[in-house]
Amino acid sequence: MTARLIDGIALSQQLRKQVAARAQALRQRGVQPGLAVILVGDNPASQVYVRNKVKACEEAGFHSLLERYDASLSQPALLEHIARLNLDERIHGILVQLPLPDHIDAQRVIEAISPEKDVDGFHIASAGALMTGLPGFWPCTPYGCLKMLDSIGYDLKGKHAVVIGRSNIVGKPMALMLLQRNATVTVCHSGTQNLAHFTRQADVIVAAVGRRNVLTADMVKPGAVVLDVGMNRNDEGKLCGDVDFEGVRQVASYITPVPGGVGPMTITMLLINTLESAERVANLSS
Ligand code: NAP
Repeated sequence: MTARLIDGIALSQQLRKQVAARAQALRQRGVQPGLAVILVGDNPASQVYVRNKVKACEEAGFHSLLERYDASLSQPALLEHIARLNLDERIHGILVQLPLPDHIDAQRVIEAISPEKDVDGFHIASAGALMTGLPGFWPCTPYGCLKMLDSIGYDLKGKHAVVIGRSNIVGKPMALMLLQRNATVTVCHSGTQNLAHFTRQADVIVAAVGRRNVLTADMVKPGAVVLDVGMNRNDEGKLCGDVDFEGVRQVASYITPVPGGVGPMTITMLLINTLESAERVANLSS
């Protein structure tokens, strides 16, 4: 069997067209979705991510505001900027690009963002909403993975999903989303003994570790669906995921490539969260 690709670029293009149409409809009602992105310091990877987010906003017809600050910005000053953006009616989503410099407490900063504008879904209120099944913003990367499963019409009910990784931004929220869709979920992490024992039982595997070849063909049940969140560099310096793509694609039924898989979906879900935040405001004021 050779797995079919779940193409994150094509799916993103399709979803972003829908986002642009909804944004246009909102603008006609006098509301332009607005995203503020705060970048502190000059981390090269963060600069690329932030540029891509701002570009995606502009292409979708959003208002975007990029605030860049020197790495020496104090925590109180950053909190003041967030407080100002919380009150800014043109802004429906606030994103603080991580990582932050060491002298700043990232969790404190995230908690300063109004939950109504927490389009990254990292606020404890958003995490609690996901946990309890209440409405709230879902973290973009696992939300994008769920959309990819939806795009192939995959019904998770009764399926066994194995998530490798338990970070607050990918692994844990991914597990909760899969649970909400009635999958039976196993979460593996660095303390898991015999990872292959679990992955071989899985109908769906989400790899979110940040290490090459965490998942190889011998660890995958024939016909499983494999989503690769990881972003690593191979020996030639090229971007690659956590999954041994060439091997696993011979066993899986569907697989996401890296690049061109989960990555583009993350920004797409950020646009969707921001749009939905703006739609909420527009509906409240109409
Ligand atoms: P993270 O915070 O470093 O978490 C990694 C997780 O992997 C941890 O839970 C860790 O377990 C677990 N782990 C480490 N070694 C393991 C092993 N040998 N077997 C099983 N589990 C292991 O990373 P993250 O933020 O979740 O990101 C994961 C990857 O996804 C990274 O490559 C990141 O760059 C990528 N990513 C991609 C996107 C995108 O848009 N495509 C977005 C976010 C992240 P412990 O908890 O026990 O330490």
